[in-house]
Amino acid sequence: MERTELNTLGEFGLIDRIHSKFTTQNHETIKGIGDDAAVIDVGDKYMLISTDMLLEGIHFDLSYTPLRHLGYKAVAVNVSDIAAMNGIAKHITVSIGLSNRISVEAIDELYEGIRFACEDYKVDLVGGDTSASHSGFVISITATGFVEKDKITYRNGAKPNDILCVTGDLGAAYFGLQILEREKQVYLANPEMQPELQEKEFLVGKLLKPEARTDIIHELNELGVVPTSMIDISDGLASELMHLCTQSGVGAIVFEDKLPIEDQTMLTATEFNISPITAALNGGEDYQLLFTVKQADFEKIKNLSDVLPIGYMTDSKAIELALTSGGTTAIKAQGWNHLEK
Ligand code: ADP
Ligand code: MG
Repeated sequence: MERTELNTLGEFGLIDRIHSKFTTQNHETIKGIGDDAAVIDVGDKYMLISTDMLLEGIHFDLSYTPLRHLGYKAVAVNVSDIAAMNGIAKHITVSIGLSNRISVEAIDELYEGIRFACEDYKVDLVGGDTSASHSGFVISITATGFVEKDKITYRNGAKPNDILCVTGDLGAAYFGLQILEREKQVYLANPEMQPELQEKEFLVGKLLKPEARTDIIHELNELGVVPTSMIDISDGLASELMHLCTQSGVGAIVFEDKLPIEDQTMLTATEFNISPITAALNGGEDYQLLFTVKQADFEKIKNLSDVLPIGYMTDSKAIELALTSGGTTAIKAQGWNHLEK
């Protein structure tokens, strides 16, 4: 038997391979694999279903991730995928794999975070599953939500000249992770050392406690604007923009000087000697929304403080960064590829 190594396919190649072997059999299945959430026709609305799994050692490190934050984040990332379809999440199920290193009090803390998120996003915890785990802590959440049929937003609807918008700062979570990793190494080398996190709370907070931008979905809805395409930024702007472009069959130009990067992120980028632009493009875990709107619709939303135009879509296949210094450079999707780690 031939054996193909996983890293020859990568995460997206593997998903495509799985996808290619299935066809849908129910007419209610409007969209299966390939977007932020599946879309099911339930009568007068579409129901959305999304699932995300977080694993200890891959997605989080329990030595610096408070379980309360982990619980909150696990809910927020699923609510974010529902928002990326222009929908509002309503229900979640939570499945956990537990090792005996985890105490009852720790699980209480995890569920406190889950409960905070349920209150913030107005979702109901309606079930889950509990199992022992020999390979660290695992949490997998499935969220369902709803969207009016005429407001569903896929990744594939962007048209040339649509304005490309993002809902907030990029690259902060990436530096949050760099700081926590650095402080962990310092601590391991010398447990007497106290972590130096002063003035870094903003960045660390962005990593540990991201918010799903449901607020933007409500604002767009109130102004009667339906994006032509949308995705949430889990892997990094470059990777998500590539999904919008390839699925829509368009290109894009992003202006370097329009990328929203907070001062804290800039300062820390200098400290780590990492380009803030690279972090903004490829850092990931920002959980902002990346979407396109028709130019006429952009006029209706341009005063929203958290709708930031960063570029526009083109009829070429190129995805390019217009440099502040002049000229352009290709944007290459690097993203996190957890299979390669
Ligand atoms: P996101 O980053 O928005 O969570 P992913 O990149 O994880 O999206 O997934 C992209 C698409 O592939 C989604 O439709 C998701 O449901 C689907 N998918 C991912 N892994 C699998 C799998 N193992 N089997 C079937 N579908 C999958
Ligand atoms: Mg997503």
